[in-house]
Amino acid sequence: MQITFLGTGTSQGIPVIGSEHPVCLSTDLKDKRLRVSVLIEWEGSTILIDCGPDFRTQMLTNKVVKLDAILFTHEHNDHTAGLDDIRPFFFKQGDIPIFAHSRVLNNLHKRFEYILNENDKYPGAPSVQINEIENKVFYFKKLPIIPINAMHNRLQVFGYRLNDFAYLTDVKTIEPEEIEKLEGVKVLVINALRKEPHHSHFNLDEALAFIAEVNPEQAYLTHISHLFGFHEEIQATLPKNVFLAYDNLKITI
Ligand SMILES: [Zn+2]
Repeated sequence: MQITFLGTGTSQGIPVIGSEHPVCLSTDLKDKRLRVSVLIEWEGSTILIDCGPDFRTQMLTNKVVKLDAILFTHEHNDHTAGLDDIRPFFFKQGDIPIFAHSRVLNNLHKRFEYILNENDKYPGAPSVQINEIENKVFYFKKLPIIPINAMHNRLQVFGYRLNDFAYLTDVKTIEPEEIEKLEGVKVLVINALRKEPHHSHFNLDEALAFIAEVNPEQAYLTHISHLFGFHEEIQATLPKNVFLAYDNLKITI
């Protein structure tokens, strides 16, 4: 399984438009962060987690030629706004399978009515094959995918475990029985917004405590704010099995 971090930034991305914050002005490419998403390549299939406003750029940068499924964590704009840009994949492959909680599907239905509504399709609009998921294992081809339920302040979000890889973003709290589903995972991705506490995201201390509890071989931090600091400086302070993810980083599991 190969993982590509397509984006590792928080909702505004880094640099923030118009910002003169030193991290936004950094020339280190690792300080440039698109909105969060990962691509998973497994046995010839390509699975995307979240489809945010930078989706088109992410597909072009990483030369992605096929898209077999999209898993959504939740409905916030930084995780969903790119859905219209699946069109080139739809034209080549037909309906693109999407997997999400019923609440997220309802939200997508409102925002992308011309894509999700079967009856009143806009000519040339992409089309999706809808898969409503609950908090129980489901399958993509032969690959079991385990949803991990968590809370983004008061909003439910799903993380996903695929074999030895788990991806959770926009988590603030998570119940012990959900953490148990991560037992034995080799690579864990978890959100860490910044050092200071935040009402709906793990900060660094919360993310590190979570990583210590799950105890994966390696952990990667994502959904990073410019307020966190420079990539290189933060990385130097992290435990030896914890890495700050950066855009276009690839790992193989
Ligand atoms: Zn987010």
